[in-house]
Amino acid sequence: MVEQGSQRKRPNILVTGTPGTGKTTMSSALAEAIQLRHINIGELVKEKNLHDGWDDELDCYVINEDLVCDELEDIMEGGGNIVDYHGCDFFPERWFDCVVVLQTDNSVLYDRLSKRGYTESKLSNNVECEIFQVLLEEAKESYPEDRVIALRSDTIEDINMNIATLTEWVGNWHP
Ligand code: ADP
Ligand code: MN
Repeated sequence: MVEQGSQRKRPNILVTGTPGTGKTTMSSALAEAIQLRHINIGELVKEKNLHDGWDDELDCYVINEDLVCDELEDIMEGGGNIVDYHGCDFFPERWFDCVVVLQTDNSVLYDRLSKRGYTESKLSNNVECEIFQVLLEEAKESYPEDRVIALRSDTIEDINMNIATLTEWVGNWHP
């Protein structure tokens, strides 16, 4: 039987982590540096209405995971994408060649999210999410462990190092 391998010529990267860890900042810089397509799932959901309304309690859209996956299937098949979202368990495993989990020191994260004007409950929910490494666990449960990499994102220097690490990784990637 012929194996149905991936046809993509460039890898797809998923960047996940608690809100405020720097996913969008790093993803957009990396995308620009090495010509990847940056897909910010939060923005896509808003733009294309891929949600089931607003959740007043959680203060965010209720993302419709099936609509998001349908929207992205062909694009992901083409490769060369960097997907940015604070969740990772509902994407098809086969989409991603590398899953990056950004992590930030709790007090640094607290300050970043306060500056965003988050409510007290949203702040504590997110800092707790970071303390308990929720996204790292979710990534390890959803993807083969050798595809998951945790990277620190406390300082600008960290961003530059992470971009260098991933640029090298993409350069060495083969289908
Ligand atoms: P996310 O997309 O994960 O929610 P953002 O990329 O929007 O996070 O970053 C949140 C805020 O933190 C922004 O103001 C950004 O400039 C800042 N920031 C992100 N990563 C770092 C970092 N490694 N060092 C310093 N500031 C950062
Ligand atoms: Mn973001």
